[in-house]
Amino acid sequence: MAIERTLAILKPDCVRKNLIGKVVAHIQEAGFTVRAMKLVQLSRAEAEGFYAVHKDRPFFGELVDFMTSGPCVPIVLEKENAVADYRTLIGATDPAEAEEGTIRKLYADNKGQNIVHGSDSVENGRLESNYYFPEFEIINNAG
Ligand code: ADP
Ligand code: MG
Repeated sequence: MAIERTLAILKPDCVRKNLIGKVVAHIQEAGFTVRAMKLVQLSRAEAEGFYAVHKDRPFFGELVDFMTSGPCVPIVLEKENAVADYRTLIGATDPAEAEEGTIRKLYADNKGQNIVHGSDSVENGRLESNYYFPEFEIINNAG
């Protein structure tokens, strides 16, 4: 299997609940390597741009309100098969439907406020990583 890059975001609910450390530990214990990480306050334009694929969905306004409601933590992760394995680790979008032991099942309140983001394809893993980090901020010799 190939080494892939995926973008995680610890969403504003994760930061507000003081769960940054617990969720990063969960991710690292699953074998992912952190290549870049920072705390950012998204503007509305930045959140709208990141979630542009959802712009016609009924929840888009709510999603942008939530993602700009406080700081969040984008993290570039690498591992073999990172995209699919990270989606498995976080669980279904709606925590009520997520498998036991997944990050969303453990920590999320509802389908909108669901603690973490994860890229949905290898291509998006690269594009989304570069939405938050220029290539020179992604450290390729860490860990
Ligand atoms: P995922 O984050 O699991 O890839 P989607 O890409 O479908 O899920 O949706 C992006 C984000 O939009 C979700 O993580 C969630 O925060 C929000 N969202 C999705 N569906 C809904 C919904 N029906 N109501 C409110 N928020 C939603
Ligand atoms: Mg998605």
